[in-house]
Amino acid sequence: MNVVATPQIPTTPAGPELIAALRALLGEKGLLTGVEDMRPFLTDWRGQLTGSAVAVARPSSTEEVAGLVRLCAAAGVAIVPQGGNTGLMGGATPYAHHAGIVVSMGRMNRVIEVDPLGYTMTVESGCVLQTLQELAAHHDRLLPLSLGAQGSCTIGGNLSTNAGGAQVLHYGNTRGFVLGLEVVLPSGEVWDGLKALKKDNTGYDLKHLFIGAEGTLGIITKAVIKVWPKPKDVATAWICIRDPQAAVELLSEAHTASENSVTSCELMNRTNLDGVFRHVPGCVDPLPAGESPYFLLMEWSSALPKAGVMAGRMEEFLGAAMERGLVLDAVIAQSEGQAKAMWHIRESHAEAGRHDGPGASYDISVASSRIPAFIEDASRAVRAVLADVRPGPMGHMGDGNLHFNFKAPIGMSAEQWRQYKPAVTRAVNDLLRDYGGSISAEHGIGSEKVGELAHYADPVKMATMRAIKRALDPQNLMNPGKIFEV
Ligand SMILES: Cc1cc2nc3c(=O)[nH]c(=O)nc-3n(C[C@H](O)[C@H](O)[C@H](O)COP(=O)(O)OP(=O)(O)OC[C@H]3O[C@@H](n4cnc5c(N)ncnc54)[C@H](O)[C@@H]3O)c2cc1C
Repeated sequence: MNVVATPQIPTTPAGPELIAALRALLGEKGLLTGVEDMRPFLTDWRGQLTGSAVAVARPSSTEEVAGLVRLCAAAGVAIVPQGGNTGLMGGATPYAHHAGIVVSMGRMNRVIEVDPLGYTMTVESGCVLQTLQELAAHHDRLLPLSLGAQGSCTIGGNLSTNAGGAQVLHYGNTRGFVLGLEVVLPSGEVWDGLKALKKDNTGYDLKHLFIGAEGTLGIITKAVIKVWPKPKDVATAWICIRDPQAAVELLSEAHTASENSVTSCELMNRTNLDGVFRHVPGCVDPLPAGESPYFLLMEWSSALPKAGVMAGRMEEFLGAAMERGLVLDAVIAQSEGQAKAMWHIRESHAEAGRHDGPGASYDISVASSRIPAFIEDASRAVRAVLADVRPGPMGHMGDGNLHFNFKAPIGMSAEQWRQYKPAVTRAVNDLLRDYGGSISAEHGIGSEKVGELAHYADPVKMATMRAIKRALDPQNLMNPGKIFEV
C-alpha cells in the first residue's frame, strides 16, 4: 500500500480541546477517534492510498456541519470532506500526516422531498446514489446517474466530483441535473441555495462553483436534483465491432436510427474483458467467439410503454450495420436479467483492475470522433516507452471519455512497473495536450493528478481557481493539497 505523499500543508493538529468540543457538538455516535473505527475512512477504495486523521466526524445535520467547521476554522485545523469514499483520485483520503479531521457525510442521508410532478428530489448529501435511483423509480422517474460505485457512493460525492458515468451522452453529467444546493462554507457560514428553480439569473450561479470542487471550497449538505421520465422500453445490445472507427460511425448513425434515444454507448476491449471474466464471479461472456478485440454495450431507451419497439428498431439497425461490416456479431438482451448481466460485466471493470496485476488507468477525454486516432497514437507512444505494454482502451465512447488502461507486460513486477509509470503518464498526457483533450474527464484531480494539472493546465485558469480558493478559504483548511499544489 502507498502512503499518500505529504505536500507542505500548513496545518495545526486537532488538539484535545477541539476534540472535546467536537464530541460535545456531535455526541459519541458523531465522532470516531479509535484507530480501528477510523481505518475504513483513511484508505481509498482501491486500497492504494492511506492517510491519517485525529478524528472522523460524522455529523447528522447542517447545523452540526456548520458548528464543526466553525470550531475547526477557529482552531486552524484542516478538514477532509468524505462521502462514500469511492473516488478514484484520492480526493477523500487525507494525507499521511494530516493532523486534522475527516468529515464523513454518511449520516446525513434523509430525503427531504420528492416532487414527481415537478420532476425534482430534494435530498441530504450523504444519500447513497442507488437509494436515490430506487426512490426515483418508485415514483416512475429516472435519476440518470449510473456508475459502478452506485451502491456506496453518495450524491454529495457525485456532486463534488461532477460524476459522469454511463448515461452522460443522453442526460449530461451531474452538473446538468442540479437545481439547487445548500453548502457550508469554510468559514462555517451556510449558503442556502436550496431552490428548485430552472431559471435564476440573479448574478453568479454559485452552485457551479461547488460542483466538481472536490470538497476544496466547502461541504455540500443538501441538493435539489432533477429527474426524468422512467424508461419503459429499453433495448440493450452487446456488439462485437470491427474497430474503434466502426464504433464512432455506428454511434453517430444510431442517434438518428433510434430517434435520439441512445442512452449509453460503452466501448470495451478484450484485454480488459478477459480480466473481468478471470476475476469477477458471475460474469459470463455474451460473445466469446467475437472476431475483433473491440465490443460495444449500447442501450436505447424510450419512456413510452411500447415493449419491444426499441429492440425491433435496434435489431434492424444492427443487421444493416453487419451487412456493411461495421458490426461483426451482436446479441440483444431478451430480458431485463440479461441486460443487467451485460451491465454487470461493464461495471466490473474497475473491480477487475484491482486484481489484474500492475498497470495504470487514465481517465481522459478527446473529441469523440477522434477516439480511434487517439487509441492508435497513445498505444504507439506508450509502446515506445515500454514495448510489451498491453493497452486496454475502454470507457464512455459517446462522451469521448476513455478509461485507457495500460497493463504491465506479463511477468513484470509492480516495482519494475513503477519505474516506467512516470514516462507512460507523460507520453499519454503530452498526446492529450496535442489533441486538445483533458487529463481528467470525470474522476477529478484529487491528490493523484495535482502535479499533472499544474503541468498542463492553462495558467490563467489556475490563477483564477486559486483566487476563488483564497477568497472562500483564506486559511486553506478545506481539503488542502487537493486539486492545487500547495
Ligand atoms: C467501481 C467504480 C466505478 C466508478 N465509475 C465511475 C464512473 O463511471 N464515472 C465517474 O464519474 N466516477 C466513477 N467512479 C468514481 C466515484 O465513484 C465517483 O467519483 C463518485 O462520484 C464519488 O462519490 P463518493 O460519495 O464516493 O465521494 P468520495 O470518494 O467520498 O469523495 C470524492 C470527492 O468529493 C469530496 N466530497 C465528498 N462528499 C462531499 C460533500 N458532501 N461536500 C463536499 N465535498 C465532498 C471529497 O472530499 C473528495 O474530494 C467509480 C468508482 C468506482 C469504485
